[in-house]
Amino acid sequence: MIDSRNYTKEYTKDFVSYWDDLIGWEGREKGENGFFQRLLTAHDARSVLDCACGTGFHSVTLARDGFDVTASDGSANMLAQTLENAEDHGVKLANAEVADWLHLHETFGPASFDALVCLGNAFTHLFDHELRREALRSMYSVVKPGGLIFIDHRNYDRMLGDGFSTKHEYYYTGKGIDARPVELHRTLAHFEYTFPDGERFHLKLYPLKQGYMRHLMEETGFHDILTYGDFERPFDENEVDFIQQVAVRPMSDDRTLHPEKIAAKGRGNGSGNGANGHG
Ligand code: SAM
Repeated sequence: MIDSRNYTKEYTKDFVSYWDDLIGWEGREKGENGFFQRLLTAHDARSVLDCACGTGFHSVTLARDGFDVTASDGSANMLAQTLENAEDHGVKLANAEVADWLHLHETFGPASFDALVCLGNAFTHLFDHELRREALRSMYSVVKPGGLIFIDHRNYDRMLGDGFSTKHEYYYTGKGIDARPVELHRTLAHFEYTFPDGERFHLKLYPLKQGYMRHLMEETGFHDILTYGDFERPFDENEVDFIQQVAVRPMSDDRTLHPEKIAAKGRGNGSGNGANGHG
């Protein structure tokens, strides 16, 4: 199995210096068309943790649009670029820390943010089921009760079913750049990014299916999970390039259908309720 810490080696200073060309800030902002801002505002979210900030596209644009943004990333190279980009855009971040997703609760403390965003197909850097559960538990704990989580990923269901294709419209919008898998099967999507000057970089990612991602979020305790395709719903699963999963941390943890809690409750009051824990 690929080491889930591999990302710290993949995002070299060199690759990080090309990342903004890859995503193309203007094209990306046009593609999103205010999706995150709209949902955050609708939920009265003000403080936001961008826990896979990368070079800071969301940290900077959300801070510019009035949100109190904390940027974090497990890669020090990425976080340094976010700070540089924030300064270049004249934007002030509330905080910025190098933090692996497994340690967000230690770095930021419980119930610290109205919302958490983990974007740009970042969650697919985790290759281990238990680490995904642990990372989600840590993300859950730093979000306030009633707060929101946003996680996105490529439409791996379509990629695995029909092969890779992309409209190149939403996430990687940079001109003259090619991003495609050089190896693709149930347990690995090995992407190659080719730039106009001939430079090439690689990322090894786990093909996260949308139903599995929803199951993980639900099992962690998130409620009201809504799945969008290329920022819209309803959507045609065979057409969209990217999936956005949006969910709520319930006001009271007692209301969650977390399997371990249900088992403990059942043991506690001697009345197993037979729920399967998947909502
Ligand atoms: N969100 C940015 C964007 O959309 O442009 C960056 C996306 S990039 C594909 C994934 C980011 O997740 C990288 O910056 C990487 O360092 C970070 N990352 C991957 N695994 C991580 C982990 N376990 N903890 C913290 N950050 C992680």
